[in-house]
Amino acid sequence: MNLADSELVSSILIEAGHKLVSNIDEADLIIFNTCSVREHAENRVLGRIATEKFRKSINPELKIAVIGCMAQRMGKRLIDNYGVDYVVGVDQYLDFPKLIYENKGAITDPDFTQTYSGIRPYHQSKTCAYITIMRGCNNFCSYCIVPYVRGRERSLPAKLIIEEVKKCGQIGLKDITLLGQNVNSYSYQDINFPKLLRQLNGIDSIYRIRFITSHPKDLSDELIEVMAESSNICEHIHLPLQSGDNDILAAMNRNYTIEHYINIINKLRNAIPDIAITTDIMTGFPGESETAFNHTLQAMQEIQFDYAFCFKYSPRENTKAATLPDQIPEEIRLERLKRMVNLQREISRKKYEAKIGSEVEVYVESMSKKSARQVSGKTRDFKIAVLDGTEQDLGTIKKARVIASTGNTLLCYDRS
Ligand code: SAH
Ligand code: SF4
Repeated sequence: MNLADSELVSSILIEAGHKLVSNIDEADLIIFNTCSVREHAENRVLGRIATEKFRKSINPELKIAVIGCMAQRMGKRLIDNYGVDYVVGVDQYLDFPKLIYENKGAITDPDFTQTYSGIRPYHQSKTCAYITIMRGCNNFCSYCIVPYVRGRERSLPAKLIIEEVKKCGQIGLKDITLLGQNVNSYSYQDINFPKLLRQLNGIDSIYRIRFITSHPKDLSDELIEVMAESSNICEHIHLPLQSGDNDILAAMNRNYTIEHYINIINKLRNAIPDIAITTDIMTGFPGESETAFNHTLQAMQEIQFDYAFCFKYSPRENTKAATLPDQIPEEIRLERLKRMVNLQREISRKKYEAKIGSEVEVYVESMSKKSARQVSGKTRDFKIAVLDGTEQDLGTIKKARVIASTGNTLLCYDRS
């Protein structure tokens, strides 16, 4: 989502006459686009700001800007305490050029109606596009800062999304990921998310469509039906579980139980047999006992996710969870995280190995980082695949056979 916002801001600044440089030494303005979801990410940004400031002594004209959630959360404090020049909140990007021109400091007024609709992002990739379909969030999961910094949910007009997807397909961006904090609650006039997907599936120039993130409480049967019927929608869903313990899920204000979650997984697997399921999970939410944590590990064993983004709980300003008694000590959060990551690594390894010998479809996204004679891409079920190829293969679909797995990459043989 931050990548998409960086592309939006790039587009606004390019339109105003600025240009992107490929080498940081050539920059007159360094922009940090930030995330506030976990404290660790914020600390890294503050560390990077401190290290990049030495450039100001070489180039006195150099300015440093912070945009995104951290800009929204910390505002002018970033200027007063960290020596940043510009701070631009998540709803104020249209005024960023004016801020630079007038050499002013911070603009962070929230505008819960801002959707940036009509602004075409500057897509960095030559093969894939991220397209924001909604902004903000109404869910107030008790650990999460997003609703406080990003404001209430608002959806972009379906017509504009469809136009953007068409334009992307025409310029070779044939793999689309639709973005929103909870895409299942997309709603614009009489168009809900499954209806939007139906319309996008009909666009000829597009090969693949994915979307993140789905909230388990809002994932409808209609969505599962559309996914099963639509040839361009990939056999993959990202469905954050967060915890496998019902008391913790209730304290998180997630509004579903583990039974409900598993029921959705069963429906998805019945309707779309080869579907890959990825998730987000956290350890050490306040009050999480060893038994509750074990419920999460058991759920992971039972569900067998293809991949899981695992986090240790990070208390965030203003959130309800940060005020709960029974905060779990850092060492325990970390120790549980390690056990969780090890378990998932083992499950993912088996999932990848199970692919050996099968035929897969790879969309070639880039040259391989390791070899000039290989290309890299993804299977429809969101696994990284590497096969022999050249620049000419970028943006094409290859039919391939999986010959080996490294545990997180499939090595394939081109059979197209
Ligand atoms: N809207 C999406 C993504 C939100 S942020 C969703 O609901 O799934 C991405 C992930 O960060 C979340 O799924 C959650 O697992 C994690 N996260 C959010 N707040 C967190 C916190 N305070 N500490 C640790 N992880 C957090
Ligand atoms: Fe945060 Fe929950 Fe909204 Fe996701 S759905 S952004 S976790 S409040």
